[in-house]
Amino acid sequence: MLPKKYKPQLEEKKWQDYWKENNTFAFDHNSDKEIYSIDTPPPTVSGVLHIGHVYSYTQAEIIARFQRMKGKNVFYPFGFDDNGLPTERYVEKKKKVRGNKMKRSEFNDLCRSTVVELEEQFKNMWTSLGFSADWNLTYSTIQDDCQRISQRSFLDLHKQNLVEHRNEPNMWCVECQTAIAQAELESIDKDSTFNDLKFSLEDGGEIIIATTRPELLPSCVCIFVHPDDSRYKNIIGKNAIVPIFGHKVPILTDEKADIEKGTGAVMCCTFGDKTDIEWFKKHKLPLRVSISKYGKTTELAGDFQNLKIKEARKQIIEKLNETGVLLKSKSISHPVNTHERCGTDIEFLSTKQWVIKVMDHKDDLLKLADKINWYPKFMKQRYIHWVENLSWDWCISRQRFFGVPFPIWHCEDCNTQITPEDSELPVDPKENSPKKDCPKCGSSNLVGDLNIMDTWMTSSMSPQINYKWGEENSLENKLAPMSMRPQAHDIIRTWAFYTIVKSWFHQKDIPWKDIMISGHVLYKKGAKISKSKGNGPSGPEKLIEQYSADVIRYWTAGAKLGADCYFEEQEFKIAAKLVTKLFNASKFALMHLDGFTTPDTSKITFAIDKGLISLLQKVCKKSNQYLEEYNYSLALSEIESFFWDFCDNYMELMKHRVYNPQDHGEGSKESAQNALYLVIFSLIRLLAPFIPHITEEIYHAFFKGIEKVDSVHLCEYPKANDDFISDDDEKTYFDSKTFVGAIRKFKTENRLSLNTELDTIEYISSQFSSIKGGLSDVQRASGCLNLKVVDTLSENLSLIEFEEKTLAIDYTPKEVETN
Ligand SMILES: [Zn+2]
Ligand SMILES: [Zn+2]
Repeated sequence: MLPKKYKPQLEEKKWQDYWKENNTFAFDHNSDKEIYSIDTPPPTVSGVLHIGHVYSYTQAEIIARFQRMKGKNVFYPFGFDDNGLPTERYVEKKKKVRGNKMKRSEFNDLCRSTVVELEEQFKNMWTSLGFSADWNLTYSTIQDDCQRISQRSFLDLHKQNLVEHRNEPNMWCVECQTAIAQAELESIDKDSTFNDLKFSLEDGGEIIIATTRPELLPSCVCIFVHPDDSRYKNIIGKNAIVPIFGHKVPILTDEKADIEKGTGAVMCCTFGDKTDIEWFKKHKLPLRVSISKYGKTTELAGDFQNLKIKEARKQIIEKLNETGVLLKSKSISHPVNTHERCGTDIEFLSTKQWVIKVMDHKDDLLKLADKINWYPKFMKQRYIHWVENLSWDWCISRQRFFGVPFPIWHCEDCNTQITPEDSELPVDPKENSPKKDCPKCGSSNLVGDLNIMDTWMTSSMSPQINYKWGEENSLENKLAPMSMRPQAHDIIRTWAFYTIVKSWFHQKDIPWKDIMISGHVLYKKGAKISKSKGNGPSGPEKLIEQYSADVIRYWTAGAKLGADCYFEEQEFKIAAKLVTKLFNASKFALMHLDGFTTPDTSKITFAIDKGLISLLQKVCKKSNQYLEEYNYSLALSEIESFFWDFCDNYMELMKHRVYNPQDHGEGSKESAQNALYLVIFSLIRLLAPFIPHITEEIYHAFFKGIEKVDSVHLCEYPKANDDFISDDDEKTYFDSKTFVGAIRKFKTENRLSLNTELDTIEYISSQFSSIKGGLSDVQRASGCLNLKVVDTLSENLSLIEFEEKTLAIDYTPKEVETN
């Protein structure tokens, strides 16, 4: 039996321990059942988890539980993404160190020990939310087998000629001291000034150009105007003199120079932006590097050398002003590309980097999008938009420390690249020598590659990590492609895209059949809750303690898939109300099921009971259908409205019958009991994926003794049974509750107690045509044993109207008191 009061803080922990002890959610490696596999996002180990994580991860967890109850063998792993820049930045901040100022091995040890603590915290948090992951399937991206799979990926791409070691201009973060990829850019509006500068022409005259980056003047290599810009017709091909720095640059034409912007003349530098790089390649311009990889001006900047970029800009603007070159300076706010991890403005430097050639494969990558089912559908467009607008190959090398090394050595004598055998992986070429000399020139002068991989290079392999691609115990045949990837919408351009890229290159297939995209939790309008911004509400642990895991879970399921939601603590209170009501309703039902041992649906003979059971079938049908489509919020709202109707109307209608069955005829109690059993047992199963603890509590209090299954979560998710659907019975139920509702409203309005007995009530049969089937329930629930069917309502009685129906009551309403 259920306890007097439900104390979630105690009971939830009890069930979490129970599931753990019984291995309730373990993936069965030997089963022939259909597999449902989930490519769970490995959270970046770079800070604490916030309510936004709870939101999206729970939405996916609900699906895992649903699929398990559908009888599938659910593969539900959890991983940690703990290599690469985000983790390094976290460790640098937390331990107040700099990776580049320490011995590499010491820094890596520090990273390893720091992530272990955090991962334990993460795991505890997921467990306290009742997550049904199989922790035996846990991985961390820095561990050996993940490194091996990343290196295997690189070697496979290398073999297929899909990676290249290129020396070319690339995006660079001067703060993190590494190359980065297009996907890591974040466009932020920043204040700046738009400056009109006067360049003198070599043989007299002048040209005015506008720029936000005058500190790049020493890097200026030419001036571009549009070929159709009549203003500059006569000076094309002539030389201009760069103010302050004095070097001569030609005036050239290019279609990309915008006639409308500023004066229409623009300076091209090494490199201010992506267009500069395109021009550099297209027009074979010289290279003038005035900003170093440390973000300081080089000797090219003359008097302004060795300054940080912003300081150089300030001093150069002052000088331009003094010398009369600065004609106009306008304050503007404009979008600037920054590094998403640190917010630093991006620079463009020529460095040698490893890149994956994605640009050549855009068509294939677009076609793959059609083979994947996107939930919600419109999210596919975001992927397509990203791929269509992609303008860089994927730069995968980072000049950092804590990550997967590139398994490759370079021959110092002939530049040949030497790769290890698969059996040597994982390998750190900085620590280990290759097993052979250069196959081309025979030299033993071989140097290990110094870079580490972009962290996405490993996390993009999460499906392959899950099925242990290329490993001895590989599950590739069983799991590839995986069933489903859950993730948030902001990483479609990174995680979803890179995973699709890898799967295409390695498996020539999609990585997963379905992708379920969730939204964010917003704290106030427009602001995403994130650990780095520190704008979240109190941590998830506190919220769980205060409201319980079930309540928090219920809240996450209230928001539409893919939609962002605002954090409203008020909504937790609504959720708490449902959990309490479910407990109380079940307690009432179980009280009347005392001694009940053999459920038998053929004993449900009363029309009101049958009407409710008919409605239940429709709820089962819809919630299955919605959950199959990842539409957990619609499923929940169907179940919820059924549940409240059951509590508010059905229980009121049949209450008298379970207490006094003798008044209702033969089989009346059995009918009610069987209906109660079926409804409560169905409700706890319908709700189990959403609120797993309280439903398990109710299941164990009674149903387990009859059903003999160890957990409600291993019971079957309720399926609709069409044999139980009956429009007539539903109508009886509906009319009966309308009838009782009308009387109750009347009593309330006349300040009569709800169990006041009323004398005659007349009704016209056509208005409550089906009430007959539930007559004994209606009579008792309405407090009127004397119901009369008439053709015309008596005029001397009080007429009451309710939902477009009319009743006549033998009762004189009191005068309404007025002040
Ligand atoms: Zn950075
Ligand atoms: Zn060689």
